[in-house]
Amino acid sequence: MRRTIIAGNWKMNKTITEALDLVRGLSMELKDVKDVDVVICPVFTALYSVSHEIEGSNIKLGAQNLFWEEKGAFTGEISAQMLKDANCDYVLIGHSERRNIFKETNEYVNRKLKAALKAELLPIVCVGERLEERQKNETFDVIRNHVTGALEGLSADDLKDIIIAYEPVWAIGTGQVATPEQAQEVHAFIRKLIADNFGSEVAEKLRIQYGGSVKPDNIKILIAQPDIDGALVGGAALKAESFLGIIKGCL
Ligand code: PEP
Repeated sequence: MRRTIIAGNWKMNKTITEALDLVRGLSMELKDVKDVDVVICPVFTALYSVSHEIEGSNIKLGAQNLFWEEKGAFTGEISAQMLKDANCDYVLIGHSERRNIFKETNEYVNRKLKAALKAELLPIVCVGERLEERQKNETFDVIRNHVTGALEGLSADDLKDIIIAYEPVWAIGTGQVATPEQAQEVHAFIRKLIADNFGSEVAEKLRIQYGGSVKPDNIKILIAQPDIDGALVGGAALKAESFLGIIKGCL
């Protein structure tokens, strides 16, 4: 049985004060929630303060990005070790905004993923097709390319610490959620891909989140799909009420 995992990607939102306000509301409400793993991914500047606010709660901390080098002349970047130092357990890698706005390639994603694993951070690796790719029936080709590119050179053992998030780009921040059937079809495809490359035991244990306009009113039907093990939430993670609504919709 795979544990449900709900992660909130706050993107470039919230000052430290605003971040602390939001987590205070969340941690009180979540103190009795034991059956869902909850992760929040604030901006870098808020990570350390938020880590103290969630100490002892069942909320875990994640970052939104990292660079693969440990230290040095890489202006503006942050290493896996630095994220550990700020008390992060998780890190998002290859979010579509990183791929599309900042031109991150599969090779970047792969190097970041290896750096995260080496530092014992739990990576959430994002994959997903753009609208024009779906319209050209290229969805499965894109997903295969993203998944195999990201996981290149990894072992079956590495896979036990990795989460994959399927996020169709056309559903991110648009209010246009994938239908449960569309999402399930891709999730099953990813699981089969993992089974073919790393074995069926690894594939069965792999958690695959769906992301793209997840809200309290659509989570139940999504999470009911056999291969959907949680959600990566953007907009709805910025307010306690909607993020809590999503978590509670999984119980
Ligand atoms: C995201 O940014 O990962 C995301 C899924 O955003 P939203 O929930 O706002 O579509």
